[in-house]
Amino acid sequence: MPTYKAPLRDFQFVLKEWLDIEQYKDSLKGFDDLSIMDPILDEAAKFCEGVLFPLNQSGDAEGLTFDKGNVHLPKGFKEAYQAYVAAGWPSFTCDPAYGGQGLPEVLNMPITEMISSSNLSFGLLPGLSHGAYNAIHIWGTEEQKKTYLPKLVTGEWSGVMCLTEPQAGTDLGLIRTKATPNGDGSYNITGTKIFISEGEQDATENIVHLILAKLPDAPAGSRGISLFVTAKFLPTAEGKPGERNKITCGAIEHKMGIHASPTCVMNFDGAKAWLVGEPHKGLKAMFTMMNEARIYVGIQGLGLGEVSYQNALAYAKERLQMRSLKGAKYPDKPADPLVVHPDIRRMLLTMRAFCEGSRVLALWSALKVDTHKRHSDPKVRQEADDFVQLMTPIVKSYLTDGGSEITNLGMQVLGGYGYIREYGMEQYVRDARIAQIYEGTNGVQALDLIGRKLPAHMGRYLRTFFHPVDQFLTENRDIPEMAEFNKPLYQAVGSLQNASIWMAQKGLGNPDDPASGSVEYQRMFSLVVLGYIWARTAKIALAKVKTSDEKNFYETKLATARFYMNKILPEHFSLLAKLTAGVKSLEMPDITV
Ligand SMILES: Cc1cc2nc3c(=O)[nH]c(=O)nc-3n(C[C@H](O)[C@H](O)[C@H](O)COP(=O)(O)OP(=O)(O)OC[C@H]3O[C@@H](n4cnc5c(N)ncnc54)[C@H](O)[C@@H]3O)c2cc1C
Repeated sequence: MPTYKAPLRDFQFVLKEWLDIEQYKDSLKGFDDLSIMDPILDEAAKFCEGVLFPLNQSGDAEGLTFDKGNVHLPKGFKEAYQAYVAAGWPSFTCDPAYGGQGLPEVLNMPITEMISSSNLSFGLLPGLSHGAYNAIHIWGTEEQKKTYLPKLVTGEWSGVMCLTEPQAGTDLGLIRTKATPNGDGSYNITGTKIFISEGEQDATENIVHLILAKLPDAPAGSRGISLFVTAKFLPTAEGKPGERNKITCGAIEHKMGIHASPTCVMNFDGAKAWLVGEPHKGLKAMFTMMNEARIYVGIQGLGLGEVSYQNALAYAKERLQMRSLKGAKYPDKPADPLVVHPDIRRMLLTMRAFCEGSRVLALWSALKVDTHKRHSDPKVRQEADDFVQLMTPIVKSYLTDGGSEITNLGMQVLGGYGYIREYGMEQYVRDARIAQIYEGTNGVQALDLIGRKLPAHMGRYLRTFFHPVDQFLTENRDIPEMAEFNKPLYQAVGSLQNASIWMAQKGLGNPDDPASGSVEYQRMFSLVVLGYIWARTAKIALAKVKTSDEKNFYETKLATARFYMNKILPEHFSLLAKLTAGVKSLEMPDITV
């Protein structure tokens, strides 16, 4: 049976030492009383370890029940959701005007990670609701906000996002769902949506639907999409679930992972709904809240990587197989533990470097989301948003590709037992895989990075990352202990700059050239971001390692930073070679298009 312990010390390291969030006490709304931080994270850890984690394997094994349009969650999930609501977790970052607590996103992300580690299927229900909350909060009319937000904030109602259709996934311009005006300000929605997470379930009394559909006069393609809001039960004037809307769940999918999260076919047969935002601007509305949603999905990969790492490490310390090549380390035992073997250490350190580095990246991005929303100076807000725009595809792709790779390594560390269901490791592999696909596939993230983010405002987004890195390298150039971290980072930045120039130049000729290397470019960019994170982590650790009474903690940070610089970051050399091979390497003479 797997176990899970929330990485509270590492959350503190990132929040207090890496980000130093105390410095924002006076400049960011909601940061004034950070004494609440430790108790909140402790409480969330208790809930995740004690309530959600014990339901993870049973939920996976039992799965969902579909019965005449109704979906029943596995045993214990409804009660866990009620406990989650009773503790007030859904309202954490929400606007106090609608009953929220107004707390920072940077404190919410560790909670999201803990939920993802303990029970990803459960986490999708509040996660999707928060996406719906954000869409209505940004784009809804006052009346829509009053109708839906208080219920989403308490968690009494859940929310879902209905975008995908059988013929329209990445290319939402192809949707066919129609919205016909009723003449009274409402619309009738007709069409079929597929793959809708939490589209139907039995944990909440109502389900709010955000739907993309086309108005009768819609221009073709993605410029003709509008956003609508409605609910399974139409809200009464008193804010209660009223008449049943014409929305039904036609089926649920049978899938590789997240077995306790319903993925639904949703039929809209003239469902009554209301326009959100301007006509034909639905995709734009969706994109404004997409950054947070994508960072949230990234954290799913991190959460699963963390729980897999914890179990792989524990196993590697216990399991006795073979002797150390340098001679017996435990001569009194029949064999040495797995952890003595270099290749096991390679896997464990790859896992650790991913989890701890990605945690910094996720929380750093969340802090910028807070800065964008809460700072009084528009220039500071703008810079923070530029950073979030740039980092969103990096966070989404690196953390979810990593989630998949790392959970696979975790399974490998357990050998044959890793493949056996009882040990829990194979579930993490299955659950992690979807995060590379939904909320925009990772290939689409790469196109977003090279097509939108690099050229935006003449490279303005890029400067929010490269300036601090240049400054860091300059400031630390003459510190001898930092040389082993600075040099590899400097080389990697050089590769990334060469790659960026190649992308820009080739883009002027054949656009397929940069597209052919987009995923490699995205990976290289991510590795450099993590290189910077590990170099700064090393700097913090070097300052503390000699005097701190947590010597081991900082020595471990330094060892992991070294591992990252020597065994992971050098991948940039091969990525540059692959990327610049260009589209000519992708010829398929047997295929004519
Ligand atoms: C479990 C699950 C839950 C989901 N939850 C939701 C939900 O709640 N709401 C919702 O609306 N949707 C949801 N989805 C749908 C999900 O977002 C889509 O599956 C995803 O966006 C990809 O769309 P697609 O499956 O149609 O693949 P396609 O768009 O057909 O893409 C197939 C492949 O082609 C690639 N590709 C496509 N276009 C290009 C291009 N121009 N250049 C290069 N490569 C390209 C893609 O990256 C992908 O690898 C969910 C899906 C699953 C499986």
